Amino acid sequence: MFQNPNIAFGRTAVLVVDMLNDFVTGGLGCERARGIVPAVVQLLDAARRNAVPVIFCNDSHVSGVDQELEFWGDHAIEGTDGAKVIPELKLSEGDYVVPKHHFSAFFDTELDSLLKRLGIDTVVICGIYANICVRHTAADAYQHGYRVIVASDAVDSMTEQEYRESLEYMKKVYGASILPNAELI
Ligand code: ZN
Repeated sequence: MFQNPNIAFGRTAVLVVDMLNDFVTGGLGCERARGIVPAVVQLLDAARRNAVPVIFCNDSHVSGVDQELEFWGDHAIEGTDGAKVIPELKLSEGDYVVPKHHFSAFFDTELDSLLKRLGIDTVVICGIYANICVRHTAADAYQHGYRVIVASDAVDSMTEQEYRESLEYMKKVYGASILPNAELI
């Protein structure tokens, strides 16, 4: 996005989905989630250097209330350490944070309004998990009229199969471009 001539980085934002302690090192974490951290760091560093907005889309759940907790169990409960962005990503003053209560970062949040105010028409999505919150966020980004790019080095799922199938699905159904960091930055 910062060197790729096909992407207008002045109208692009990076969405960072659920890179929170609970999803990386906590109860819903896994080796594969930890494995993408260097690629996410690299992507965010490039974005910040190029004044591309970095928007953290963070689960921020209310125990006993939020629907998905019934079958995923309590995670990323608002105000807890588990709901904080992992320290490696160095949440910075110029970054934006959009709390969410559902899989999609657009559902019942201010994300669409924020993107419109920033003049964004393209989103680069990174984070976890590719087959759940990343995919639902990609769906709504597409349905709101944004061009969707999935940063393939910087997303993952709990299994290789889920990862591959979700990238293929987003490409086929939402017209997402699937690009490794080497083709983005
Ligand atoms: Zn959740």
